[in-house]
Amino acid sequence: MEIVEHSKQVKEQFLANMSHEIRTPMNGIVGMTRLMLDTKLSKEQLEYMDSIEKSSTNLLVIINDILDISKLEAGKMTFEEADFSLSHLIQNVVSTMQFKAKEKSNILSFSINNDVPTALLGDAVRLNQIFINLVGNALKFTDQGVVKIKVATVEKDEKQCELKFSIIDSGIGIAKDKIDTIFDSFNQASLDTTRKYGGTGLGLTITKRLIDLQDGEIDIESELNKGTTFSFILPFKIGEDQKVRSKGGKAFKPVLFENVDILLVEDNPINQLLAKKVLSKWKCNIEVAENGKIAIDKLENKDFALVLMDVQMPEMDGHEATKYIRANMNSGKENVPILAMTAHVGAQEAKRCKESGMNECITKPFDPKDLNDKMDWYINQQKNKTNGA
Ligand code: ADP
Repeated sequence: MEIVEHSKQVKEQFLANMSHEIRTPMNGIVGMTRLMLDTKLSKEQLEYMDSIEKSSTNLLVIINDILDISKLEAGKMTFEEADFSLSHLIQNVVSTMQFKAKEKSNILSFSINNDVPTALLGDAVRLNQIFINLVGNALKFTDQGVVKIKVATVEKDEKQCELKFSIIDSGIGIAKDKIDTIFDSFNQASLDTTRKYGGTGLGLTITKRLIDLQDGEIDIESELNKGTTFSFILPFKIGEDQKVRSKGGKAFKPVLFENVDILLVEDNPINQLLAKKVLSKWKCNIEVAENGKIAIDKLENKDFALVLMDVQMPEMDGHEATKYIRANMNSGKENVPILAMTAHVGAQEAKRCKESGMNECITKPFDPKDLNDKMDWYINQQKNKTNGA
């Protein structure tokens, strides 16, 4: 029994390390590609960059899927409960997937019944993931057709509701004898699916487990050459309208931090370059430290508004450096906001970062909007504290 337990732990550790090792260079690739796409490029270069971006995004989806499966198997998947706007979430899914729809001349649309509450309390990230999987599949297996997302209320009172989401496509359909096993890991409807359409056969397994674990259920109806409907029912608590009104929906306009000093603690030269480029677009002054020791030296000699701290580094890692800063520095330096930038994913890692004294944990490859939002919040909070003191 102990051996089984031990080998499970070794497997988990191995997967966590592998994912870290893969995500770090991926951060460089995805980020640099985004920056490059923002520059003036010839038509030919633009085409190449577009395919690099698509391939790297696909690779990231696969890495995340493998990680999710191992988390689900280990019973370590956790769900957040936060306010979100359902209509923003669906609009976002539709606008992200619109280019994919156009590529295959599909019409992608959505409708939400009037009685569906817009402000919900639940895990928006996982709901988004379920949609991306199902809508992504619907578009993948449909040509010159239609894909519709529909949302209806099954039950509701003032505090909670049960919603039914349907993703309907007019694509190739699934043979009757394959429907029963379609949710199994690595299963695809026919042997030539990978060759023709790509994919790993993990998407639906993950989708079903994410729904089951939230006390929901998923159902499928399909007819070969006519189309497929995936529908799932999920319970939600009803959220507060006001809390979600200001969130999401609009295009990202970064907050600029003119003359704000930021310390970037990062050992990987490509990720240094990437973060420097993004931060200088936001007008920050950036200093780089290659490890925790150098960061402490720099902090002792100068005031910084915020520290972006890589976690795994040689000499002194992010956890040790943060603990040192919180415990041993003074004259306000001990309170500098520290945002962890980590290639590890998951609630466990976020918890470790908080325990070491970091304010927040940002996962690499980082989403510029998320980084910009969090920097803005902590820099302002720190300013208010200093002014108030
Ligand atoms: P992947 O798409 O990576 O192969 P999934 O688990 O998402 O893996 O899907 C498993 C299989 O189910 C697909 O390979 C495909 O054969 C079939 N499938 C899923 N969604 C659809 C759909 N909307 N229309 C037709 N076939 C589908």
